Amino acid sequence: MPRLAFIGLGRMGHGMAARTIEAGFEVSVWNRSKGKAEELIGRGARWATSPADAAIDADAVITMVADDEASQSVWLGENGAGTTAKPGTLAIECSTVSYGHALALASELRSRGLIYIDCPVTGLPDAAASGKLTLLVGAEAADLERARPFLEPLGSTIRHFGAVGSGTVFKLINNLMGAVQIASLAEGVAIAEQAGLDMTIVAESLASGAVASPQVIRHSKRMIARDFAGASFTAALRQKDAAYAVALAETLLPGVPVARAALAAYDAAKSFAPDDDEGRMIEIVSRPKPAT
Ligand code: NAP
Repeated sequence: MPRLAFIGLGRMGHGMAARTIEAGFEVSVWNRSKGKAEELIGRGARWATSPADAAIDADAVITMVADDEASQSVWLGENGAGTTAKPGTLAIECSTVSYGHALALASELRSRGLIYIDCPVTGLPDAAASGKLTLLVGAEAADLERARPFLEPLGSTIRHFGAVGSGTVFKLINNLMGAVQIASLAEGVAIAEQAGLDMTIVAESLASGAVASPQVIRHSKRMIARDFAGASFTAALRQKDAAYAVALAETLLPGVPVARAALAAYDAAKSFAPDDDEGRMIEIVSRPKPAT
């Protein structure tokens, strides 16, 4: 039975790890706080005492943690998976990290004999739990084929963008555009409220008109109702993705004023309520401004 180490059991990682157990892999799990692993241990996963312990004898290691700092720690820290994974092990980074980090991590893990797969994802936690994520892969084609059995339980769509790093480039563009849409939606909703429009009709119109992207459909009703129960994507994560995307954009297309405005909006949202739903942007936009 193939052996898998799964590291990072947050909103996304927990459901993804559960899918790999259901797929029949022998799974070792590690999370910074052990409580999130209990249910998976009950379903047959082995609790590893560190990422290094999880990676011993693994055929593949999958990580799903918050950001560059967390990724650096779980792969290359003192007890990182990269310290024990044997040469030939698949190193699959599913976290959304910066482009620079993805390239540096790939280079370091390759120097240790590992096969790096750049694999950020799109889809919310419910898609993670039901194996319906879209996987945005950057990898050598032959490496992707080796990784495919470990990826298939996670996603309904695997998109191969090209070499290592290319999956991350697309993911950052995708989430930057999401930040722009959500920040812009918040302003549109707030303007409609100030104008005294019937917000039921506004909601219906936004969800069915020309700007009805999945982000607009999902967030418009929640913003209008100020209903942010069950945060699935936090302001802190959206700000992190926008910051990584703007840093990448500046190396390719200096300027990007719309992207910078969205990042500034999410800087404010992160200061306001970092661990709450990204849609609370509406509350920031609607706040009375101090008199000048
Ligand atoms: P989350 O629920 O906040 O989980 C974050 C995970 O990272 C937790 O396991 C956390 O451990 C771990 N972590 C944070 N800092 C760490 C550190 N310094 N060292 C070790 N572990 C650390 O976040 P999530 O929503 O699952 O997101 C995980 C990744 O998926 C992020 O890169 C995010 O951008 C991406 N993503 C999220 C969504 C979504 O809808 N939520 C969709 C697509 C992609 P603890 O449990 O101990 O805090």
